[in-house]
Amino acid sequence: MRSSGPGAGPRLVVADAVVLTMEDGDPEPFTGYVIADGGSVVDVGRGAPPGVRASDQVVDAAGRIVMPGFVSAHSHLWQSGFAGLAADANVDAWSERLYAHARESLDAAAFAALTAAGARNHLDGGITTAFNFTLSPGGDPAIDRCQAEAALTAGIRVVHGFSVGRFADGYGLPEATSRLRDFLAWTRGPGARFGDRLLGTALAGVGVYWDDEGVQAAADAALMRTFGLRNQLHLLESPATAEVENARFAWLQDSGTVRPALTVAHFVHPSPQVAADCVAAGVAMTWNPMSNGRLGSGTPPVPQLLAAGMRIGMGVDGEASSDRTDPFENMRSGLYQVRAREQRAAALAPRTVLRMHTLGAAEVIGVADRVGSIAVGKKADLLLLRRRPSRLDREDLAAAIVLGYGVTDIDVVLVAGRPVAGPRAPSP
Ligand SMILES: [Zn+2]
Repeated sequence: MRSSGPGAGPRLVVADAVVLTMEDGDPEPFTGYVIADGGSVVDVGRGAPPGVRASDQVVDAAGRIVMPGFVSAHSHLWQSGFAGLAADANVDAWSERLYAHARESLDAAAFAALTAAGARNHLDGGITTAFNFTLSPGGDPAIDRCQAEAALTAGIRVVHGFSVGRFADGYGLPEATSRLRDFLAWTRGPGARFGDRLLGTALAGVGVYWDDEGVQAAADAALMRTFGLRNQLHLLESPATAEVENARFAWLQDSGTVRPALTVAHFVHPSPQVAADCVAAGVAMTWNPMSNGRLGSGTPPVPQLLAAGMRIGMGVDGEASSDRTDPFENMRSGLYQVRAREQRAAALAPRTVLRMHTLGAAEVIGVADRVGSIAVGKKADLLLLRRRPSRLDREDLAAAIVLGYGVTDIDVVLVAGRPVAGPRAPSP
């Protein structure tokens, strides 16, 4: 990368790249350029970049693909220290081990260090935006803030998933409300220094985990209404609790949670009725195939849900269950699981999978107006991949990326037009 001008904040010109915008109306890649100014894309087009100035920072991207940075619609950044945990346990036993350890052993400093490492790992994998489903044992406001600070300091964009947590003596809806109010005030005060890297706050809700007659589901709904926030909650991940969670779905409906502001994570085992109700209500879902495969959870009926109109975004989940923050591997895991289950290669197209890890993921976490594709006005969060001419890239570039590319093909990862990871980025 060559800098060709003095002064703060030169424009970035990525020239002579194969551009894959991932915009819906723009399916074919083309040889062209991307220009960013002030951290946002100001021009993208075919051929040579027009109006290059002496002060521009020009990246000669010949032999490179430029695509939007990946978006993970469901991540737990604090889980970075636990890859390999409970290697032969299903999700239920695995989760008991992980969360008992977190409650007993992790303080704010530990959460901060783990979250920073998780954010770095995401960036190294080409993921520039994540929904960070946090955990705050005991409802500790310091643990809320440190997870946001650590992620944003590392340079990734996040939607902060505020950990509602399980109610207990001395911690209920009034306490959760006041803690959330304080956190939102922090995002407008000291947290505002991170600028637009903090894409927003949503609930990391509880939903129907526990046999509480819908108390927590109603509390999630109340917090959504009070603060006008989206809610993401785990639903129907474990085969062992599928029947009871499908029955408890009525609690979510009764509380008024089942609407477009709801995103359900995993959604591996919906009954036909629950699936139909979610589609009809405009609910979105995240699909986390590496994690679902590793934990023996299953594979959601993705082609059927897509055909019904479900909005689906992919996420790498936490490293305690997916072990790698690798979106390439996540896309292949998902594609292969679906094709193997359906015994039909055409059951899911690679381009559909790539969309679900970029623009589709941005949609389900409510940030597609800012990230997820290369378009004028969106953030200049870009991934440059080294192209290997021996591959059949020209036939279908999206398919070539999904089937054959990996983290080792990353040249540089840019957030707001600045290099943050990859061999061509300066060391952090
Ligand atoms: Zn999760």
